Amino acid sequence: MVYHLPMVNDIRENLVAIRAKISAAAERAGRRETDVTIMAVTKTLGRGRVLEAYDAGIRLFGENRVQEAQDKFTDMPPNLVLHLIGHLQRNKAKTAASLFSCVQSVDSFRTAAALAKRLEETDEKIDILFEINVSGEETKSGYLSYADLLREIDLVIGLGRLVPRGLMTIGPFTSEVAPIRAAFRSLRESFEDLKRRFPELPLDTLSMGMSSDFETAVEEGATLVRIGGALFGPRMS
Ligand SMILES: *Cc1c(COP(=O)(O)O)cnc(C)c1O
Repeated sequence: MVYHLPMVNDIRENLVAIRAKISAAAERAGRRETDVTIMAVTKTLGRGRVLEAYDAGIRLFGENRVQEAQDKFTDMPPNLVLHLIGHLQRNKAKTAASLFSCVQSVDSFRTAAALAKRLEETDEKIDILFEINVSGEETKSGYLSYADLLREIDLVIGLGRLVPRGLMTIGPFTSEVAPIRAAFRSLRESFEDLKRRFPELPLDTLSMGMSSDFETAVEEGATLVRIGGALFGPRMS
C-alpha cells in the first residue's frame, strides 16, 4: 500500500492531521466531524504503541488476528474498546467472543453461528458488522454482495446473540479515486437499505476508509474509519 502523506512517528501530530482531514471531508459532505470515529489499527505493532495512541486520546482499536490481539491487549485501561477487523476462523470464536466488543468481519452464517454458540455459554451478546466485499477482489473476505447477506441475514438475527450494528468494507486496492468512491457509495446505499428493512435494529455504524482512502469514505458517509499507517507510520512488514 502506498501512502500519500509524508508520515512522522509522532502519533499526536499524525492524529491532528487526520482529524483536520476528516473535519474538512465531513464539511464537504455536509456532515459533522463528530459523526466519525477514528479506530487505530494496531496489527503488527506492540503494546507500547497501543498505549501511546491511548494517551493521545484514541479509545477504539482494531486488530486483524485473534491470537495477536489476545497477546497484546491484556491489562488495558477499562474504557479501551477493541474490535476484530480481520477474518474470524471458527476455531477462534470462543476467544473472540470474550476479547472483542464488536466483530466487524462477520461474513457468513457459519461464522456467526460459531460466535453465537460461544456467547450462549456465557449468556452474553456481541455487536457485529457484516463485511461486504464490495470490490469483488478475491484476496478479500466478506460477503460477495449485499444480496448474499440479505439471503441469510434473518438466520443470523435469529441466532439472538449477535447485535447487528452495520456494515464494513475494505475499499478497492487502487490509487484511482473513482472506483473507491463508487465502492463506498454502494456500501452506503446498502446500509440505508438495511436500515429501511430492519428499523428495529440499532444500525448506526458504517465502517469504511483506511489510511489511503478515509477522506473519500467520510465524504461518502463513513461513521468509523480504520487507520493504521497514517497514524503510526508505515508498517515494516
Ligand atoms: C490493516 C487494516 C486497516 C488499516 O490499514 P492502513 O492502510 O494501515 O490504514 C484497516 N482495515 C483493515 C481491515 C485492515 O486490515
